[in-house]
Parts: sequence; structure tokens; C-alpha cells
Amino acid sequence: MSKSMKGVLFPGSETCVVEEFEVPSPRHGEVLIEMRASGMCGSDLEYLYKTPRELRGQPVNGVAADPRTITGHEPAGVVVALGEGVRHLKVGDRVAVYHINGCGFCQQCRSGWQITCTSVHKTYGFDRDGGNADYLVADERDCVTLPENVSFEEGAFIACGAGTGFSATKRLAVSGLDDYVVFGAGPVGLSAALFGKFMGARVLVVDVNDTRLELAKQIGVARTINPTRQSVLDEVMSFTNSAGASAAVDATANPKARSTMLDCAKTWGRVAFVGEGHTATFDISQQIIHKQLTVLGSWVYSTQMMMELIDLVSRHSIPLGKLLVTDRWQLDDAPEAYRRFSAGETAGKGVFMHA
Ligand SMILES: [Zn+2]
Ligand SMILES: [Zn+2]
Repeated sequence: MSKSMKGVLFPGSETCVVEEFEVPSPRHGEVLIEMRASGMCGSDLEYLYKTPRELRGQPVNGVAADPRTITGHEPAGVVVALGEGVRHLKVGDRVAVYHINGCGFCQQCRSGWQITCTSVHKTYGFDRDGGNADYLVADERDCVTLPENVSFEEGAFIACGAGTGFSATKRLAVSGLDDYVVFGAGPVGLSAALFGKFMGARVLVVDVNDTRLELAKQIGVARTINPTRQSVLDEVMSFTNSAGASAAVDATANPKARSTMLDCAKTWGRVAFVGEGHTATFDISQQIIHKQLTVLGSWVYSTQMMMELIDLVSRHSIPLGKLLVTDRWQLDDAPEAYRRFSAGETAGKGVFMHA
């Protein structure tokens, strides 16, 4: 094993550098993972990459991310060394890493919801070294093993983006009874569309970007809608015989899309907000109360759901990577990869791959 490795940093103000680091050693309860795939996520851009240089290191959303911390919170790879006290994993295991290292003790952590940990916790790629590197040290308990037929890029994608789309779809109880409208065809929205279709729903996907809508068509969704040319409400109503959608999710964070989602929902419909940031204005009576809507906020997912999703993808050989991973990069390409990602020049999921 070489002693040095590459790692990707975001110094701020839309910059990205690849630097040399020492290969870390796993401590008690930790494993050393040789990285095979590391996903790029919108939150990398929003919370780190775009942050002005002088503000990097200041708290954003409660997390103060040191600009010297290696980025990447969607890691997958092979265990190559064990720290003391590791009881379950062994060298050679294929794993994906859940990106929140919770306290392990609070009620949220004990139910698998490390994302809502109420005590001291760390986030890989934010305030603890992440997966945009040749090696990563992770807590054994944050790792989920990958079956042979789930690829590393799929494991990386499931570790955040695909898991988030799955979680909202599952919590909405989407099934073959539903017409499910997905607002936003980024990696999270497309995952929601893919799993919604897999659950049997008729899926409609809304996005302003035709390249993304093409990916939705490849999933086989029932209808794609581009609001720059079409009325979303009219399209949903015509598709549903004027009933409206029984389920919908917003993965855009766009205030207008959020309001349109409520308009598209039928009486007794269920909707979920997943896209983060910005604001929204509703007519609470007309758009929500009088329609008897169930409104969910859905933030990422639990480790239990991560295991469930990996199992689902494996058992049904769902071609998650083939359908939705569109950009594969080497670590050395990171500055160009994030520049293109930030400029909106990518469509599906972007992943750093290692040989
Ligand atoms: Zn993410
Ligand atoms: Zn906790």
C-alpha cells in the first residue's frame, strides 16, 4: 500500500483542488476502505463548493466544515484494513458508507436515523474526511455491505441521492394505485421516479431540462413535462382525467414548483418536500387543508432503509447505475467535474471511479 493518496478539497468560491495526503490508519471500531466509487451530490455544491472562500469553515446549516477536510459523502469501496475492535467486517468486504456518523446512542441513532442524531455527530465529506480520495477511514457501524451484483457506483449513489429518492417514495407509500408526479429530474428526483415506477405507479416527471427528461424517458415513465413549454397542471389533469395526482414529490427546491405540486395533488393526495433551501408561499386553506392533503418533509433516510434499498436493487437487479449514472470521472478530473456539475452541464449522477 502506498503511503500517500489523493484527496479532493473545496477551498471555496467555486474552486476545487486535488492534493496529496497521508493514507489514514483505522482506529478502534474503524475500517480502512480502498475507494472504488464516490458520488458527487448537489449538497457538495450548495454547502461547500459555492461557499465564498472567506466563509469556508464557518457553520452552514449547523455544520462547520473545515476546508482541509476531504470532500465526498457518497463513498463505496473495499475494506483493506481493520482497526481494533472491529467485529463484523473483514478485509475484502465490499461496502458503501452511510454518510452520517451519528453518536450511536440517542433515540434517533438507535432507530437508524443518524441523519437526525440529537447529539454529537459528524458528516463524511463535511467535518470528517470523505470519499473523494483513494482511501477513507469509516466507522464499521456506518458501513453497509454490498452484494456482488450491486456495483460500487450504485453503492455510492445509494449512499445519499438514490436513498433520498427511495425514502420519500417509500414514506409516501407509492404503489400501483398511484399517479406519482416527480418535480425535478436530478439524481434524487430520477431515483424517486425509478422506484415509483418499480412500485407500480404511473410516474410523471417535471423538469425544465430536456436532457434530464430524456433520462426519465429511459426509465420508462408515463409522461415527461417541461414547464418552459407546457402547463404542468394541465398536463397532470389531462393525464389523470382531471382527478389530479395521488402522490407527488418536490426535488427541485423551486418555490413555484412547490406550489404547483400542491395544485397537482388530488383530494386526499400525499406530497413530500425533499429539495432543500429557499422558501415557499401557499394558500394553506385552498391548497392543503381543504384538499385533505398529507404533507411530508423527507430528509435523507435511515441506515435501515439503506440496507433495504441495497437489498431491493440486488434482488430485482434494478439497473440503477446503467440508467442513472451518466458521468464517470477520475479523481484528477475533480476540478473539471465539479465545474461542469456546478454549471448544470451534467444530467444524471456523477461518480468518481477508481480502477
Ligand atoms: Zn448527498
Ligand atoms: Zn445520535
